[in-house]
Amino acid sequence: MTTTESSTSPVAPHPREEAEIAARVKALEAMLIEKGVMTTDAVDRLAEIYENEVGPHLGARVTAKAWTDDEFRSRLLADASAACAELGIGGLQGEDMVVVEDTESVHNVIVCTLCSCYPWPVLGLPPNWYKAPAYRSRVVRQPRAVLRDDFGYEVPDSVEIRVWDSSAELRYWVLPRRPAGTDGMSEEDLAGLVTRDSLIGVGQAFAPGHSPGH
Ligand code: FE
Repeated sequence: MTTTESSTSPVAPHPREEAEIAARVKALEAMLIEKGVMTTDAVDRLAEIYENEVGPHLGARVTAKAWTDDEFRSRLLADASAACAELGIGGLQGEDMVVVEDTESVHNVIVCTLCSCYPWPVLGLPPNWYKAPAYRSRVVRQPRAVLRDDFGYEVPDSVEIRVWDSSAELRYWVLPRRPAGTDGMSEEDLAGLVTRDSLIGVGQAFAPGHSPGH
């Protein structure tokens, strides 16, 4: 099947889109509270958890362990949700996670073309660009160009790029390559090199000495 640029160009984002969505969310929340389906406290607690407690630092921890423990790495690639549970990491939107491993010859990128499915337990809530129609439509057709133009990440031509489309059933994330020059580093220091973008596949892990605070 062939596609043309013009037939699949994403529609320009509507300026009121975000405000409209926020208003709808507020209305829905108010209705669910009024009907007794949930409480304000529960909503606030959930927002707090995913804003402050759950985030890419957890995915970084899992990654650092996989880099230093081959058996754990094998279990992570075989069943990511079960391997994360070993570290006490799991929960909402993380029931069926699949980890895809970057190698010398393959680079992986994740997207949800339909909406914004994302592995919350290891990455927290998705960034806005991940939910944007522009990323969702273009990264599938032109991953190399999107990584270069939008993220400043140049993937060598010799490396194949695989794009994984997440869904409500399967949520992918990436095991990035361990940076060179990190032999003998502690798991904690290695975790400090893992970026959110590297877990999505739109970037790579920091080289030693390049991460903030190191
Ligand atoms: Fe989705």
